[in-house]
Amino acid sequence: MEQELKSLRETALTELAEIAGKDALNELKVKYLGKKGLLTGVLRGLGALSPEDRPRVGQVVNEIRNEIEQIISDKFEVMKQAEVVRKLASETIDVTLPGRRAELGHLHPLTLTLNRIKDTFMRMGFEIAEGPEVEKDYYNFEALNLPQDHPARDMQDSFYITKEFLLRTHTSPVQVRTMQSAEPNQPIRIIAPGKVYRRDYDATHSPMFQQVEGLVVDKGISFADLKGTLELFSKEIFGNRVNVRFRPSFFPFTEPSAEVDISCVMCEGKGCRVCSGTGWLEILGSGMVHPRVLEMSSFDPNQVSGFAFGMGVERIAMLTYGIDDLRLFFDNDIRFLRQF
Ligand SMILES: [Zn+2]
Repeated sequence: MEQELKSLRETALTELAEIAGKDALNELKVKYLGKKGLLTGVLRGLGALSPEDRPRVGQVVNEIRNEIEQIISDKFEVMKQAEVVRKLASETIDVTLPGRRAELGHLHPLTLTLNRIKDTFMRMGFEIAEGPEVEKDYYNFEALNLPQDHPARDMQDSFYITKEFLLRTHTSPVQVRTMQSAEPNQPIRIIAPGKVYRRDYDATHSPMFQQVEGLVVDKGISFADLKGTLELFSKEIFGNRVNVRFRPSFFPFTEPSAEVDISCVMCEGKGCRVCSGTGWLEILGSGMVHPRVLEMSSFDPNQVSGFAFGMGVERIAMLTYGIDDLRLFFDNDIRFLRQF
């Protein structure tokens, strides 16, 4: 028995000395110390020995067991250390390498322009009003005094969804909705920014574009208020050096109506390709709210008056940045967008 234990110990030590790798070490641990291991087997056999021999042989078995356990745990420790060293070596950080910069991006030129427009009017005390893009024919045309035979009401020019609903062709319905939800004759000072839709597509027209319309209603509002507000706006956006002129025009929902021009930002009024040699650039339409439009929203044109205006955000952005093709805004070409 003792001879058997002695040779078992020697074999174990030899095998342990040659071991390489965690898996092999684990296997060896099971082989000697596991439930069905060789040493465990010897311990089970103790019962067959005489009572005098049992403690002595048992002690020898325990000593061998402890010795092997110690060697195995030492070896595990050495392997663990080696692994840490290897990991440290392979994961070294070169602090001299240049860092990777996060690409942050920025706002789209149309958003930048819209923000400037909103900001300018908000500083003049305007509030922002919004409305649905799928709009009732009534709000889009009828309540704005647009006659049945107006070209905008033609199926060729607007995106109709049903006979009654269409994609709004301007943000003017927001003005109607604002007036109709307000107390009659109460002061209103809003701008309505938003997307609008028309059947157009070329270098200066897109089927979807953005408008900002404005509406002011109060007692004693005159054309002088309209002029003052829009002149201040034009100079805020295009700089104090631009001249502003009001040119008579026609809109069904305003009377009188005026187009607002600024002196050409490219040639400063001398005449160039951008302004077609006229020295002027049209930036928005405006006018005094038609008495019938006020009446249709239960406002009394004998007590209050108002003015309204509307502009295309794309057009303002094109003039601000000197862009000659509106479609560039929607192409999402990163080479174009990076420039803003
Ligand atoms: Zn010009």
